Amino acid sequence: MTIDWHARAAAMQFDGRALINGERVWAASGARFDNLSPIDGKKLCEVARCDGADVELAVQAARAAFEDRRWAGMPPAARKRVMIQFAELVLAAKEELALIETLDMGKPIKYSLAVDVNSCANCLRWYGEAVDKVYDEIAPTSDRSLALITREPVGVVAAIVPWNYPLIMAAWKIAPALAAGNSVILKPSEKSPLSALRLGELALQAGIPPGVLNVLPGFGHEVGSSLGLHMDIDCLGFTGSTRVGKQIFQYAGQSNLKRVWTELGGKSANIVCADCPDLDAAVRAAVGSIYFNQGESCNAPSRLFVEASIKDEFLHKALALVPNFAPGDPLDEATVMGAIVDQTQMQTVLGYIASGQQEGAQLLAGGAQERIASGGFYIAPTLFDGVQNDMKIAREEIFGPVLSVLSFTDVDAAIRAANASPYGLQAGFWSADIGRVHRAARALRAGTIHVNQYDDDDITVPFGGFKQSGNGRDKSLHAFDKYTELKTTWINIA
Ligand code: NAD
Repeated sequence: MTIDWHARAAAMQFDGRALINGERVWAASGARFDNLSPIDGKKLCEVARCDGADVELAVQAARAAFEDRRWAGMPPAARKRVMIQFAELVLAAKEELALIETLDMGKPIKYSLAVDVNSCANCLRWYGEAVDKVYDEIAPTSDRSLALITREPVGVVAAIVPWNYPLIMAAWKIAPALAAGNSVILKPSEKSPLSALRLGELALQAGIPPGVLNVLPGFGHEVGSSLGLHMDIDCLGFTGSTRVGKQIFQYAGQSNLKRVWTELGGKSANIVCADCPDLDAAVRAAVGSIYFNQGESCNAPSRLFVEASIKDEFLHKALALVPNFAPGDPLDEATVMGAIVDQTQMQTVLGYIASGQQEGAQLLAGGAQERIASGGFYIAPTLFDGVQNDMKIAREEIFGPVLSVLSFTDVDAAIRAANASPYGLQAGFWSADIGRVHRAARALRAGTIHVNQYDDDDITVPFGGFKQSGNGRDKSLHAFDKYTELKTTWINIA
């Protein structure tokens, strides 16, 4: 049965209130902000504009919940059951959550359903299942003593997340933090606050006790900075831009040296050698990965290096695929590219396109706003050839559907150019020569290297960057390192 998403959207009721200590509440100040949909630029609802006063209430609730051990003190098997129930409730609310996600940030409903909600539920379940399977250690010390190395929850964790994958980014933070026994204050982006608020309700319904997960919508310079500067928050997990990431470290230095973990921007390089084993697959991956999620992905391979001898053939194939990504109505299940998150981001992307043209790159596809009659913010899939690595479009993160193509004749020079970036989130490398592949994988300075594919991803592997792409790793058991303190206990047994 096909779903009439427009009818569902028209009937949808939104709740923009914060979640503090298990209650849905407006900001203490009474302030609210208008939440617009990027699909048509129209108002969806009002949302609580939280600030320092609400942070204070949420920290008190989170601290009280942590101190009385209503969550951390539950038997691990019981916490596991609650987390798994949380995942089940997310799946049961799949269509509702997917619709919220699409209306709030503009991605196609097809992907909200197939990717975002499933991935969020999978993450909650995976960390839930881990709760009673992770053991502590005993150190190999002398016979005279016993040295226990244990992990404890760090306490009150703040999580500040961006708008590009609101449910997934929230889950990557809250799932390991909650599974480890912490209390959490989640701050979604002001551009996409609604799914996180609904997630908070589902957590309560699943049995996560009041005060353990609080959700504070609002602006970065108000609620975000108050979280960063708070003296009673033990850890801050941040995903967002490198610019704000730097600010987050300063907040920690100006306050209580809270542990800070950052997952930041990217300008990932994708290098295709002439001996690439499957050129069609390389073309599909290069084009599909940059236009997926409207190009609003931190790991999007936005710099494509193609060996000169195959570049014409590569571009010919790529340009044939580009029209498949023309933006469409995000509520139409056939649409693969939706709306840019807001007017500001659309203007930023159009500004980068103009700069590419001014600096002499050749615009081979796209380059303009589309679907102007529908309202909302849409940009055609855009492809530049003849890009140099020192052009602005090759240096800075655009965060939109813009692919920059560069060419090379010497693979070592291509790797050096790929590394000549302040970012180091991910990189791709395509070659049939196993020795060359290993040398490149070692030489590329990035948190994840994709070889002869660019899409593989799984909750079992860490996700994060080198250099100014941040210091933290989301996903996998390594994420527990961020939300736990390591304690050594020496016992004299002589
Ligand atoms: P952003 O840095 O503008 O905002 C991120 C979050 O920080 C939002 O919730 C925002 O309200 C808050 N914030 C803004 N200013 C703040 C301040 N002064 N103090 C505290 N909080 C503040 O980023 P964005 O535009 O929402 O997201 C896009 C960025 O996120 C891109 O750079 C992208 O690469 C990055 N990102 C990285 C990853 C990763 O895993 N490395 C994943 C997704 C997105």
